[in-house]
Amino acid sequence: MNPFHYSKPVDVSQAISLAGAASRFIAGGTNLLDLMKENIARPEHLIDITGLPLKDVRETASGGLLIGAMVSNADLAWHPLVEQRYPLLSQAILAGASPQLRNMASTGGNLLQRTRCYYFYDSAVPCNKREPGSGCPAKDGLNRIHAILGASEDCVATHPSDMCVALAALDAVVHVEGRGGKRTIEFADFHRLPEDAPQRDNQLADDELITAIELPPQGFVAHSHYLKIRDRASYAFALVSVAAALELDGDIIRDVRLALGGVAHKPWRDKAVEQSLIGQPVSRENFVAAAEAILRDAKPLEHNAFKVKLAQRAIVRALSDAATGGKA
Ligand SMILES: Cc1cc2nc3c(=O)[nH]c(=O)nc-3n(C[C@H](O)[C@H](O)[C@H](O)COP(=O)(O)OP(=O)(O)OC[C@H]3O[C@@H](n4cnc5c(N)ncnc54)[C@H](O)[C@@H]3O)c2cc1C
Repeated sequence: MNPFHYSKPVDVSQAISLAGAASRFIAGGTNLLDLMKENIARPEHLIDITGLPLKDVRETASGGLLIGAMVSNADLAWHPLVEQRYPLLSQAILAGASPQLRNMASTGGNLLQRTRCYYFYDSAVPCNKREPGSGCPAKDGLNRIHAILGASEDCVATHPSDMCVALAALDAVVHVEGRGGKRTIEFADFHRLPEDAPQRDNQLADDELITAIELPPQGFVAHSHYLKIRDRASYAFALVSVAAALELDGDIIRDVRLALGGVAHKPWRDKAVEQSLIGQPVSRENFVAAAEAILRDAKPLEHNAFKVKLAQRAIVRALSDAATGGKA
């Protein structure tokens, strides 16, 4: 691990004034410290944001929720307003990591956790995400856990978060603040596809801090389900996950959200497919058609073709479980 400076600002403007290309904010440290110990991240300056006043969950004027970036994953999953109004989000968070990790991990840090691609974590091999232009051994290597949608010649890594898949489905908004001021970013635009710059996971500038996540009022309380398929029953990242949410009028679909995890460099949504379900009755046939359409452009690698069928089946099951009230 390289030597680094350490600061612990007490307010957001102080934190932002210290930030820059050679610094990193540290929240729970559950990802950043691992990356530093492996020499993958080498910040010259750590800005500890655990003392910032960003730990509240409060209702917005429009009936949604504003979640401070430093709310822990555990506190968020078990928050009464989240459990009651956004059960999809609670389920997704509780499907991830372990109780100890969820106690440490923060809302902002969860969005910015880095890929679990084995080659990214191995500094002895090339990786375009780690060292731009060095190559991507995953493309023709061990690529069982890698992307089947939206990948590029330069990178086939996936985004590992469970929470983000639910936030994508719920149309969350990310509040950020930097030296240029405050701005909001639609969740769908926050993470990037790799294209030819896989070193950039998201749209944040170096001096920008995530201050909060906003949830709109629609929480799909009656009909939502998060399904995570993984190699072990706990403490494993998703091979494929699905956040499914429906608003039903009888058995007619009035609104639907479908986001996939484990298949792309960002939580994957296909709004055209969602639109095609609106006005249709709940039926296995319609869910199968939607699942096939979402995966129509899938480009599996040598070892992950199984993910295409797995994702299709997971979509059908998650939608079916959502339709029956989220019962697995
Ligand atoms: C063994 C293990 C298993 C795991 N399993 C899962 C799993 O199954 N599902 C899952 O979703 N996750 C899983 N995780 C990942 C875990 O959820 C993340 O490590 C955690 O959410 C990161 O939050 P943190 O606060 O610890 O971030 P940190 O490690 O502190 O920071 C991560 C990144 O975010 C940046 N950052 C943090 N906060 C802010 C902010 N407010 N503004 C700007 N930048 C910020 C940091 O600079 C850093 O780059 C696992 C982790 C481990 C170690």
